[in-house]
Amino acid sequence: MTTINVLVLGPQGSGKGTQATRISAAHGVPHVSTGDMFRAAIADGTELGRQVEPILVSGELVPDELTIALIRDRLAKDDAAGGFVLDGFPRNAVQAEALDEMLRAIGRPLDAVLFFQLDDETATRRVGSRAHEEGRSDDTPEVMARRLAIYHEQTEPVVERYRAAGTLHTLNAGRSVADVFAEIETALATSPGQLPAVDDGGLSGGSRSSREASP
Ligand code: ADP
Repeated sequence: MTTINVLVLGPQGSGKGTQATRISAAHGVPHVSTGDMFRAAIADGTELGRQVEPILVSGELVPDELTIALIRDRLAKDDAAGGFVLDGFPRNAVQAEALDEMLRAIGRPLDAVLFFQLDDETATRRVGSRAHEEGRSDDTPEVMARRLAIYHEQTEPVVERYRAAGTLHTLNAGRSVADVFAEIETALATSPGQLPAVDDGGLSGGSRSSREASP
C-alpha cells in the first residue's frame, strides 16, 4: 500500500482547509485539522472543548501541551496508518520540533509540505466573506487581525524552516480552487517521498531547492 503524508501551511483564508479536504478524498487519507478537532470538542461539550473555547474565540493559540497531545493521539489512530493530510499543525517552532520527533519515532517522514502563499489583504477579504457563510466566532475583523499577526510571528518561521530544508512546495493560493488543486496533484505525483525530518535547524538545506515552485 502506498502511504502519503502531507502537510499544508499558510495563512487564514488561503484555502488550505479546502484543499486538504480534496487531497484527503483523492488519496483516501484522513484530513487531520487541529482547528476542526478543537471546534468538534467545543460542539461536543467535552473537557477539552471547555478548556479551549475561550482561546479559540480570542484567536490566541491553544497551549502546546494540549495541541501536541491531541495530534500525537490522532496520528496513532488506525486510519492514519496509511497517511494523513495535516492542517493547522505545526503552528510554531515547538510544535514543529514535536512533529519531527513524532514522525521520526514512527519512521514516517513527510512526503510533501505545501505552502499556500497569500497576501494579508486577500486573506482578510476571504475570511470576511466566509464569516457570513460559516458564522465562526473567530472570523470577526479584530480576531482575524490577531490570528494573522500570530501567523506572521509564530507560523512563518515554521514555513521558513521547511523552506530552508528544501522541502517546501510554494503555491500561489490566490488562484481558483481547481487551479490550485491541479498544481497540488502534479506536485504530489512528482514528490520524491521520504523527505528527511527537519531536525538540524535547516543547515542541510538547499539540496532540494529545485523542487520549490515559484508562485
Ligand atoms: P485558522 O487557520 O483560520 O486560524 P484553524 O481552524 O486552523 O483556523 O484554527 C482555529 C483556532 O484553533 C486557532 O485560532 C487556535 O486558537 C486553535 N488552533 C488550531 N490549531 C492550533 C495549533 N496547532 N496550536 C494552537 N492552537 C491551534
